[in-house]
Amino acid sequence: MIEIDLIREGNRVYQQVLRAKAMGLSATLTLEEWVDRIQQFEGLCAYCLEAPFTSLDHLMPPSTGGNTIVSNCVPVCLLCNSRKNDRVLCDTSADVSFEAKLEQVRYVLKNNLRIAKPKSDEQKEEEIKITFRLDEEMHAALREVARSHNRSLNGELLTAVADHLKRSQKEQRKP
Ligand SMILES: [Zn+2]
Repeated sequence: MIEIDLIREGNRVYQQVLRAKAMGLSATLTLEEWVDRIQQFEGLCAYCLEAPFTSLDHLMPPSTGGNTIVSNCVPVCLLCNSRKNDRVLCDTSADVSFEAKLEQVRYVLKNNLRIAKPKSDEQKEEEIKITFRLDEEMHAALREVARSHNRSLNGELLTAVADHLKRSQKEQRKP
């Protein structure tokens, strides 16, 4: 099951975009794109595919010119994030296996693959319950994002996210 806190993720995208713009980098990532990306990896870290993600990682770090655009952003867990930072900090002892993981993640993005773990019927039922709950709370959550960002842009953005979530819920309800 994937539980996505839209207020938290909306703030995350907003902060990342502000930061990238301040660094003079391209920053076009939207909340909708980010939510899609999280769902693509089932809410897991893109590198280990085991731990739940805790933050947003740039495949190419902003410090070396990596833009905050959807093709450069993946969910990452705490451990993988620190491993990646270490690798960047100690260039002389490049972590070969991490390089392989990076390659794997690039492959998933390039071919638009979806990470899907086999699910029991019980898990599927639980997932559907959660998405229904999200449906009820969605509008309040989305309004909160718009209010906290105080941007008219969010009007269109939030409609797009709402439509997207409704579509994916309909697909899940199909037998
Ligand atoms: Zn990880």
